[in-house]
Amino acid sequence: MDDVTPAGRGRRTGAWRAAALSCTVAGGAITAGAVAAGAAEPSPDRRPPGWCAPEGTLTARAMPQKIRISECDLRGRVVRGENGLAATVPADGTSVTAHALRTDGASELRVGVDEAKGEITLTTTGTRVPQGRPREFRAPLDACKDDAYQQEPSKWPKGSTIEWHYYPGTAGLPMSGVSAGVSNVFEARTDCTPSHAFAPLPDVSAKYAGQTTKAPNVTAGAVCGDRDGTNVSGWEAMPGAEPDVLAATCTWFRGPTTIESDTALQEQGKKWWAGPQDGSFCPAGSYDAAAVTTHETGHMLGLGHVEGSQHSKLTMAPTVAACDDDPAALGKGDYDGLIALYGARSSA
Ligand SMILES: [Zn+2]
Repeated sequence: MDDVTPAGRGRRTGAWRAAALSCTVAGGAITAGAVAAGAAEPSPDRRPPGWCAPEGTLTARAMPQKIRISECDLRGRVVRGENGLAATVPADGTSVTAHALRTDGASELRVGVDEAKGEITLTTTGTRVPQGRPREFRAPLDACKDDAYQQEPSKWPKGSTIEWHYYPGTAGLPMSGVSAGVSNVFEARTDCTPSHAFAPLPDVSAKYAGQTTKAPNVTAGAVCGDRDGTNVSGWEAMPGAEPDVLAATCTWFRGPTTIESDTALQEQGKKWWAGPQDGSFCPAGSYDAAAVTTHETGHMLGLGHVEGSQHSKLTMAPTVAACDDDPAALGKGDYDGLIALYGARSSA
């Protein structure tokens, strides 16, 4: 990587991130509501609860956190969480975690489906970049010393090789930033070591399996749809997404094991920068495709957001500013999280 370029990956300080130094939790896990006692199959004299509308999108905020399937069968329905993020409740016994990265923060929605228990659990959080300097502002730690990380409830089996496909979308945007972002995580790229990689590598690998004509299982509204068994990352026009959405990642899991993950970068209405590799300047107001994909790939592997302004230099901080290329290089906490999830790959 060339430090002569206008926004060299080696520079982790500077003004790029000033607009996104901090964040506050605007959402928080939904409070558990009262679950109707003795729920049974709906019958003429026992109608579903009021929040269980028979059609349309359901709102997590208006629902209990734990729902008995016998009381309201959400499978196949779309549920909306914080900041407009939504997911289709899987009907194949899997659970799903949805993440959206926005120009003004991020959000997460998890739909846990436990068919054996007959229960569906909804959890959602949202983060917004505050205007001005927030009261709880804390100076960002050095990314090479900040060891904070969060784990999602699922991960791929240790030692697995994850095959992923690239979806090019229709706007002619380049693949380079997407593929760089994927490998930044699997190859533990960082500016914290002279070799620009952490060692040892986490015990999980990626295999690029070629271009696909199947779009990521993310709908035009940036909603996690039904999975199709193929891991896809790439560009997608999402005309129905909220205007602030940059990217969405949907990860499906069964028990503690991830089985599929798709990432869609919004190709419509957003300006993107392929990164400094070719020596180009970041056009004002553009987003670094590699930085955003690196963050999303962290979610794919089971890392969650690290909240708080002091962690804003880490890849898994829930903010990315225009022309911000910091997330493309892992910080200590991002790497420590991967090692905690997968252990170390043997060098042999
Ligand atoms: Zn995120």
